[in-house]
Amino acid sequence: MIRLFRDKDPGSPDIRACPVCGQSGARPIGRIKTNVLVSLERGEYDLAQCQACELIYISPQPSTCDLRRMYVETTQFDNPVYTDPARVTGIMEYMSACLARILQRTSRTANGVVSVLEVGAGLAWMCRAAKSLSPKNFTVAQDISPEAAERCPWVDLYLLKDIFEHLVDPIAVIRRCKSLLRADGVIFTTAPHRPIGWRKNSQGVSLWESYSYNHVPAHIQYFSKKSMRALARKAGCTLDYWSHAHEQGQAFEAWLR
Ligand SMILES: [Zn+2]
Repeated sequence: MIRLFRDKDPGSPDIRACPVCGQSGARPIGRIKTNVLVSLERGEYDLAQCQACELIYISPQPSTCDLRRMYVETTQFDNPVYTDPARVTGIMEYMSACLARILQRTSRTANGVVSVLEVGAGLAWMCRAAKSLSPKNFTVAQDISPEAAERCPWVDLYLLKDIFEHLVDPIAVIRRCKSLLRADGVIFTTAPHRPIGWRKNSQGVSLWESYSYNHVPAHIQYFSKKSMRALARKAGCTLDYWSHAHEQGQAFEAWLR
């Protein structure tokens, strides 16, 4: 089915409300096909941008069944994107630098013991960075996928827990993290931002289709600084730091406190 959006202005009522600020009438960007190597219930999604907070997200919300197929019933971590030695070195350098900046900003010394809880951890890179900084640092990781848990000796406690009721609800995730956070703790998030060349009011999905982080529908939303600030406010946090300088703007880093 081909759908034309040009005659729908300012937004399409068919697109779900923004999962961060709740605003309806999102600006449609286009239709984007699923591209994960597993058979799913739905083959394509609308990609849309919230006109209030700038969040870019897919609509409708992926079903629990499809999320389970992608995250539990497939293997992800055999992929060279996770195992190539140069890639591993690059990720570890980045995560170690992030941890060093967080410790500096929160006036912690590298000698003090740090506790890390990594949510949706996969191969638990931040836990690995903390353990390589000091073996005394305490690391806990959570993920739904069992395949990573046995591969992470740098994790003291690996929790295989289902958080699907929260996966599609960023406010619930950050609220829960905030409730677990020490007074001087930091919620560190890094995730896909925008494809190279994307501008605020760009149209069409061609840049997204060639974006290395385009995993439809595993990646459900793409934050901007404005939408991250809206999320922080809804979750009772403040946005302490934002950067999308990493990977030519393809990924962002945010700290919430
Ligand atoms: Zn919004």
